[in-house]
Amino acid sequence: MILIPFEMVSIRYKITLITITDLVNTVVIRYHLLFTASATMSLFDIIERLANLQLHTFTAVPAFRNLPPVQIRALYYLFRCNHYSNSPGAVTEYLGLTKGTVSQSLRKLEEQGFITRESDVKDKRKVKLYLSARTQEALEEAMRHEGIVQAERSLPDGGLDLEQQLKQILRIVQQNEGVRLFGVCQHCRFHQQKNGFPFCELTNEAIPPENTTLICREFEER
Ligand code: SF4
Repeated sequence: MILIPFEMVSIRYKITLITITDLVNTVVIRYHLLFTASATMSLFDIIERLANLQLHTFTAVPAFRNLPPVQIRALYYLFRCNHYSNSPGAVTEYLGLTKGTVSQSLRKLEEQGFITRESDVKDKRKVKLYLSARTQEALEEAMRHEGIVQAERSLPDGGLDLEQQLKQILRIVQQNEGVRLFGVCQHCRFHQQKNGFPFCELTNEAIPPENTTLICREFEER
């Protein structure tokens, strides 16, 4: 085979060679970009996958094995919410589902003994929902085997940076959607100390210390 130096190739042939090289480069770059995009999970994909895996945390516990996701989510909300937020209306608002769907789910949970329904001591017209002792225990068991928290601990700073960034995304989405924030009581602008004890400036009532780490329907950012 005889190799002809590039300078000796005719001008027309040189242009053809350069055009083919450009074309090949363009195809390779485009293919690479397409492949990279499809091989990367978006944040939306990651959160959606984690939410699915999060459900396994609960269904792995025998007491919750046969419960549909909406009922598990309602129970977990009642596990995390404070004494101002355990009403059927707050559950509906938090889950963002229709009143009918949530009412039906709560009724089934009550029939199976997962929750009880009681009138509010201060206002008998209002209904409050409470987890039964066995549901509380089963939820605590589920949380002991929770995989996301364990994975978070393995991150630099125990995942604090990631937590802050995700919280920021959550707040932006909540504001855009115009929904309540359901934040943690001790970070609320109404949260004060009175005589050394937690106090709510909105309701003018003392807050049980164990409730300061729970989420509240009335939460407002500082
Ligand atoms: S301080 Fe805020 S979050 Fe806490 S109980 Fe009062 S309104 Fe709710």
